[in-house]
Amino acid sequence: MKTMSCDICEKKFSADSFDEWFKLMQGHYMADHAAFMEQAKNKSKEEGMKWMSDMKTKFEAL
Ligand SMILES: [Zn+2]
Repeated sequence: MKTMSCDICEKKFSADSFDEWFKLMQGHYMADHAAFMEQAKNKSKEEGMKWMSDMKTKFEAL
């Protein structure tokens, strides 16, 4: 079990795998960072992929 906090706020999430952690984050983003989600829609797929890989690298390094 690894714990990593949200990249926007200080809220922490625990999961066994990055995929699980990402699922928790999706729910959290939609509930607490709706404005950010709206902005994210305008971002390119490459930016989204980069975010994913950066977060995954961080998670794996824990
Ligand atoms: Zn957050």
